[in-house]
Amino acid sequence: MKKPDYDVIIVGAGAAGGILGRELSDSGLSVCVLERGPMLATKEVSMDELRFPIRQNLLWATPKNGGMTWRPHSRASTQKAFPRIPQLLDGWGPGGSMNHWGGASWRFEPTVFKALDVWGQIPDGAIANWPLTYEDLEPYYTKFEYRLGVSGDASQMMYGPPRSKPYPLPPLEQGYATNHFAQASRELGYRPFPMPAGIISRDYQGRKRTGYCGFCMGYECTVDAKSNTRVTELKEALKNPNFTLLTDRYVYKITMSSQRHADGVVCMDSNGTVYELTSSIVIVAANTLYNVWLLLLSRNQYAPNGIGNQHGQVGKYFHQHAYCGVAGLFDERMDVHIGPSEPLMAITNYTEDRFDHTGLGFVMGGFIFGAHAVGAAGQPLEFVKNIPLPEGVPAWGPIFKEFVVETFSRYYLVLSLLTDPPMRSSFIDLDPQATNRLGLPLPRVTFDWSPQKKAMHRFFYSKMTEILQAARAQKIWGGDDVQSPWELSHPSGGTRMGEDERVSVTDRYGKVHGVRNLFVAGNSLFPTMSAFNPTETIGALAYWQADYIKQAVSKGDLI
Ligand SMILES: Cc1cc2nc3c(=O)[nH]c(=O)nc-3n(C[C@H](O)[C@H](O)[C@H](O)COP(=O)(O)OP(=O)(O)OC[C@H]3O[C@@H](n4cnc5c(N)ncnc54)[C@H](O)[C@@H]3O)c2cc1C
Ligand code: SF4
Repeated sequence: MKKPDYDVIIVGAGAAGGILGRELSDSGLSVCVLERGPMLATKEVSMDELRFPIRQNLLWATPKNGGMTWRPHSRASTQKAFPRIPQLLDGWGPGGSMNHWGGASWRFEPTVFKALDVWGQIPDGAIANWPLTYEDLEPYYTKFEYRLGVSGDASQMMYGPPRSKPYPLPPLEQGYATNHFAQASRELGYRPFPMPAGIISRDYQGRKRTGYCGFCMGYECTVDAKSNTRVTELKEALKNPNFTLLTDRYVYKITMSSQRHADGVVCMDSNGTVYELTSSIVIVAANTLYNVWLLLLSRNQYAPNGIGNQHGQVGKYFHQHAYCGVAGLFDERMDVHIGPSEPLMAITNYTEDRFDHTGLGFVMGGFIFGAHAVGAAGQPLEFVKNIPLPEGVPAWGPIFKEFVVETFSRYYLVLSLLTDPPMRSSFIDLDPQATNRLGLPLPRVTFDWSPQKKAMHRFFYSKMTEILQAARAQKIWGGDDVQSPWELSHPSGGTRMGEDERVSVTDRYGKVHGVRNLFVAGNSLFPTMSAFNPTETIGALAYWQADYIKQAVSKGDLI
């Protein structure tokens, strides 16, 4: 039999793909990472508000090889088609979505891993325990924090999970608006603390510390102070002669040589040249929607309904976060557009099962944080485009201009990130009609907010409004409805991990049930979501998966 081209092929060079690429190539395996986007040099990146957050230059996976469609429920036909994923998703180029992420870097609470035991099931719900525990992941969380560089102070964190080591770097400096928010929160009896950030507060492992320039989220960092796999794991992996990173490679098929064996992928460059590459192990790390898309699109004689879909589980139990932001206008200048987006203060009293849910009409929770600008960095164009308008202010004309002049320097947002339990009626599949420009079906999201999300939103809206009142805001507006269901925030599920293959797609190491050498990485694996942003957990899981793969290879199980 012909020797495969590589030991391991990884699809996607983002958070998960970057970590797996480094770990497996460090162990001596020959690894090839295929990434649909280009290698972006830091010098190409400028603090250009029009180019990045407004025109979304860092999200250019569109319309040729990106995009999605949406409908609210399974009886509806497709209602919206997007050339790129709306809101917080698409990565593009090595580093993936971490190139333009905000940097909020959290561990999940131990209770998230046993969510079904804690909450039981809700109507139409698909809450599930994880097939691993917080204790299993703890060493890998630590590894993520030290490898990527996370700034924080666990001693100030309310209810932080147990940890084996402190954060490697002290928290970021807080700005005027953040301190203002924190002071008001303290007056209400909260104990706000600096949010842990994937932004380095001191020079660290050859990288320069943040210059507090303010162009974090929505941009790449010009000095590489924002932690991402492009400036850490992939940079190190590229020193290994057995590591290959191929950009401009759009993977659209996983190939199989038998029912239990994946043997490579098919991909295409932007000129339309097709490449067939073979490997002993295949890892799909293309972010939630495209992980599902690739498994379903790769149907073949051994897997007629898509790979790993023998029980109809691929795409199931999609869930995500909802952001909610309430604005306050103050007498004094807040200048919330100055400084990075992530030195924020967080309140975690209403996270997971830390509070009495009696009569509230929802399970799980969220966390509150401030003070934030609108959009990514909140610069003038973003402000004008994204600021919610109070009643009586039109979106144009002299009254709008007056509102902009009055508000730009004197407002901030209090935000919350709300958990969404997985529901049986929410899923991702292939759109039967809509295609990208290559003629391939787009991933379709069938999802709407449940009544319980609306109840959770009302609860958090009232808490955020109380804080703004305590902060003596002269006007409070916005955030009184849940975000549109097609605006995706941290989309999760679709290839959930589990012990029972009838209700999951992979085992606890992300290995697809029934296929001995195919893995999935990223938050499509999450059985149930936490209130917190997902990337540190995606990273910890990738390190955990890498250790398993290394051990299995050393025992001769995979190669
Ligand atoms: C604006 C923004 C702000 C965010 N802020 C935060 C935050 O503060 N905290 C947090 O925890 N998370 C944040 N996130 C989310 C975070 O970036 C993601 O959770 C994380 O990067 C996901 O990791 P991943 O490896 O699964 O996917 P990604 O990092 O998205 O990487 C997937 C890679 O796969 C590539 N790819 C996709 N399809 C194919 C294909 N068919 N062939 C080849 N390559 C393909 C993509 O181009 C991409 O590079 C933010 C995201 C955005 C967009
Ligand atoms: S604020 Fe710091 S981390 Fe953010 S882009 Fe500027 S220098 Fe980079």
